[in-house]
Amino acid sequence: MLIAVAGRFSDDERGRWMDALRAALPQAQWCDVQDPPAREAEFAVVANPPPGSLQGLPRLRFVQSLWAGVDRLLADPTVPSHLPIARMVDPAMNRAMAETALWATLSLHRGFPAYARQQAGCHWRQLPQRRADEVSVAVLGTGQMGAAVARTLAGQGYVVTGWRRGADGSKTPSPLSAAVDIVHVPIVTGPAALPTLLSSSDVVINLLPLTPDTRGLLNAARFAQMRRGASLINLARGAHVVDEDLLAALDSGQVGHAVLDVFNLEPLPADHPYWTHPCVTVLPHVAAQTDPRSAAQVVADNLLRVQRGEVPLHLVRRDRGY
Ligand code: NDP
Repeated sequence: MLIAVAGRFSDDERGRWMDALRAALPQAQWCDVQDPPAREAEFAVVANPPPGSLQGLPRLRFVQSLWAGVDRLLADPTVPSHLPIARMVDPAMNRAMAETALWATLSLHRGFPAYARQQAGCHWRQLPQRRADEVSVAVLGTGQMGAAVARTLAGQGYVVTGWRRGADGSKTPSPLSAAVDIVHVPIVTGPAALPTLLSSSDVVINLLPLTPDTRGLLNAARFAQMRRGASLINLARGAHVVDEDLLAALDSGQVGHAVLDVFNLEPLPADHPYWTHPCVTVLPHVAAQTDPRSAAQVVADNLLRVQRGEVPLHLVRRDRGY
């Protein structure tokens, strides 16, 4: 099995990935996508490769992404539309995402950003203490990540409601959304349900994929629909948010606080207003990092499935963009 590797890695990262991948698939041969042997490769393992990276691989029949989000790969017009692409789904990442969402929600619920601002001004003031069951949380997107987040927050006593595309947009609802239903988290579907959900939530957590339908979804109109002073936690993609609209909503107090892990431009430029805004918490895209220690085995299992002639897991549906 010859596998071409394409991606934007630092040397350190590449070394960690290659060690883990070689250990998980000792029988495979690996080459860089730019090396001449790659022309013979039937498999590619990719991590946000620069556009055009997969051109000139005539025998390629399967692409496995190391990252969960494949929006950049799908936006590359040189990737043949018939080529099956699987994205990374690793339970360890889902757990990491749930931890980040729990930390951010708990922090907002208990007013820790406000206490940090008070500390900066040596200001002693006790805020009212709410119970978790007095805090309603909307989870936008109840797929792999959103389902884990919804389950974790519901388990902590928060009043959680999920939002997904559902039957109006998709003939085959994702099985993981059904798994959320099992723990009695109500799920609402489709664009018509969003305004009511936003207006009844104290915390809105974005875990949608970036598609033509969801790009710029979190804009002035959506912020106006939110409950005044409610918070936004964006753990999905920067391009879901219209930055100027969010800054205006934060300045006016319509949005009380934003925890942002992802940005339109990454790394976030040093002069971006988010860095210094008193109502913004910035994380450097670390909500759920892909961990080679567990993800390499996910890659190996999927490549072996394809080699055995089985259908790979977690194929991206090009028609819906995720
Ligand atoms: P999934 O593909 O598993 O789930 C997507 C969910 O979004 C599904 O519930 C789907 O609905 C719903 N959805 C899609 N389009 C719409 C729409 N137009 N309206 C309403 N709901 C919609 O994605 P993941 O959970 O794996 O990933 C979620 C996000 O997290 C992605 O943006 C990914 O890039 C990001 N991510 C961020 C990381 C970080 O460190 N910050 C790490 C990993 C991922 P349905 O169930 O009906 O199909």
